Amino acid sequence: MYKIPFFNYPALYQSRREKYDSILKAALESGYYIMGPELTAFEGGLAEYTTARHAIGVADGTMALICGALASGIQPGDEVLVPAHTFIASASAIHHCGAKPVVVDCGVDHLICPNSARQHITNKTKAIMPVQLNGRTANMDAIRKLSSEYDLIIIEDSCQALGSKFKGKQAGTFGSAGALSFYPSKTLGCFGDGGAVLTNDDEVAEKIRTLRDHGRGSDGEISMYGYNARLDNIHAAILLFKLSFYDEEIEKRRSLARIYNDRLSGIEGLHLPPAPDALSDHFDIFQNYEIESVNRDALRHYLHEKGIGTILQWGGKTLNQYKSLSLSGEATYADGMTDRFMMLPMNTTLLDEDVNRICDEIITFYKNQNC
Ligand SMILES: *Cc1c(COP(=O)(O)O)cnc(C)c1O
Repeated sequence: MYKIPFFNYPALYQSRREKYDSILKAALESGYYIMGPELTAFEGGLAEYTTARHAIGVADGTMALICGALASGIQPGDEVLVPAHTFIASASAIHHCGAKPVVVDCGVDHLICPNSARQHITNKTKAIMPVQLNGRTANMDAIRKLSSEYDLIIIEDSCQALGSKFKGKQAGTFGSAGALSFYPSKTLGCFGDGGAVLTNDDEVAEKIRTLRDHGRGSDGEISMYGYNARLDNIHAAILLFKLSFYDEEIEKRRSLARIYNDRLSGIEGLHLPPAPDALSDHFDIFQNYEIESVNRDALRHYLHEKGIGTILQWGGKTLNQYKSLSLSGEATYADGMTDRFMMLPMNTTLLDEDVNRICDEIITFYKNQNC
């Protein structure tokens, strides 16, 4: 039986090899490697795609979070609310601003729980960082309500959500700044690290541009301590090309999610993400297909034996479970979920028949469980 790996990096390159080769060749021959025309063109394309006023290319998603948070005014002593179910980079970015990440719970859709967030607000709480996880944008009405009630800055970790929408509005455009990641397995992935910050605020944008380039302003003057956090030109050139067929890729992901949903919904012991067309307020792009299973480890083992790769996000732990960091906060649902959550293959190199085979195996697994 043929194998279905969780992710197939070489296949991504092979799918459009000649085009990638010619883009790289042109970028290398041009002699512009840092802050060149490809970067400017990509930033323009990304701003247009997301409807953000500014899109600023940076070295990776983590630097996008750090620059976005610093430029939005996060300072030492501040507390920032962050959901437990996220990548460590969300919390590190807050820490590197000198602020304190405070962990809050997530809900059944695996996104930040606004009620839990409300319970963790103190007089030091300066900002909230919703993480638009797995390609889904949180209920931003609830987050905006909290933000206006308590005067909280919104910094979105939208690293998994480019193109995802809530009530028609794009992930990354709701608050002061939104971070994007172009890590190779992300929906808009490049062949290395890359990231961008979205913002509608001219001042925040100017600060991010300064922070990413050693604290140098457009006049060359140093106005603050900055970083070397620029997005390379060759990556920008590849990303600009990939953006041109990004909507097709999202449609492909949504159609694979539809197959998973049609075939697996109703299985007892399995909890699926909402179907692509389930809720009209949400447009999900399915960066991941994350499920919960009450027999998680046995199911993973069974699929592995059948040649099907699965993964536990963040290696299976939520932020509050990293003992050496001992973060404050509380996350009851997220804690319990770490025994059940897992990701099924979800990427544009998969064929419908691959997803159908994965579903066949899962259905067989549960039939055997129940007798
Ligand atoms: C990928 C990701 C990041 C940033 O990752 P980089 O590897 O730094 O680009 C941040 N937060 C979340 C939730 C992510 O999935």
